[in-house]
Amino acid sequence: HGKTTGRNGLAVFTPELGRLLHDRLRLESALRTALERHELFLVYQPQISLSTHRLVGVEALLRWRSPEFGLVMPNTFIPLAEETGLIVAIGAWCLECACQEIAALQRQVGNTISVAVNLSPSQLHEEHFLETVERALTVSGLIPSSLEVEITERLLMSDSEESLQIVERVQSLGVTTAIDDFGTGFSNMSYITRFKVDRLKIDRSFVSRCLSDANSLAVTTAIIALAHSLNMEVIAEGVESVEQAVMLRALECDSAQGYLFAHPLTLPEITSYSRSMHDFDENTEAPGLWMY
Ligand code: C2E
Ligand code: MG
Ligand code: MG
Ligand code: MG
Repeated sequence: HGKTTGRNGLAVFTPELGRLLHDRLRLESALRTALERHELFLVYQPQISLSTHRLVGVEALLRWRSPEFGLVMPNTFIPLAEETGLIVAIGAWCLECACQEIAALQRQVGNTISVAVNLSPSQLHEEHFLETVERALTVSGLIPSSLEVEITERLLMSDSEESLQIVERVQSLGVTTAIDDFGTGFSNMSYITRFKVDRLKIDRSFVSRCLSDANSLAVTTAIIALAHSLNMEVIAEGVESVEQAVMLRALECDSAQGYLFAHPLTLPEITSYSRSMHDFDENTEAPGLWMY
């Protein structure tokens, strides 16, 4: 990249750095109008029970179809949205859209799958956050227990008194909570006893190495034990192989999501996917071993 260091140790502004800065400004100005121009949409990744193989929920993942940049992934624009404060409006839209689309799916298919929505720390600390959640539920008619919010360890480790209250108030609405990318935050884990979250999500980095690296296997095993001893559920993310799924099931991990089961799907795709899973459940006595 463009950051080079000069002889005296000072950063030098190279033409390449200038171009990067220019790209960033273009991206930022395009993001400012993305919401009103309806360029944002959600895709949904299935979450599968490892004991019953049923579809238990979906995670909503944000996408941006920009006329200028093409399909932009969240790792590119979420940090920008956080820095500019645009995340508050974008995050509120995600909550509303996810609740509406999954409530409609539930009515069409006749199931009660849950939807998990990712939250940025700054969204939670915004003064209207709880009203935003309540409105998303009321407008959509989604049962509160069908909504899960994913928060990060980063949020739980910082100014915990305020965070604790917000998490508790979200839970008092009947919404469930999960800690995303669990195990990557390191440092002080004492927050885990104060926040009564419902689920831990084992980060993909541990899952992807759990068959080849003894340390990752140890961490995965420990997270599952920790979750269960604190009466939490545990879900593994980024499951890509049957071997990983078999291993996680043997370790009594409750559920999993990842490319093995499905990539994130568009609304029409997830609707037909959940319909076929639902029909399968209805017509099958023991769905136990259809995949592995
Ligand atoms: P995350 O919440 O940990 O989401 C999981 C990411 O892993 C997703 O990437 C998903 O597509 C990807 N993934 C799922 N299964 C597999 C797999 O088997 N293998 C591999 N290699 N990857 C897999 P995505 O959609 O690009 O999202 C990246 C991150 O962006 C998310 O990480 C989340 O932190 C953030 N994000 C996404 N949507 C939102 C949103 O609506 N709001 C906020 N605040 N953040 C979001
Ligand atoms: Mg997530
Ligand atoms: Mg995650
Ligand atoms: Mg992750």
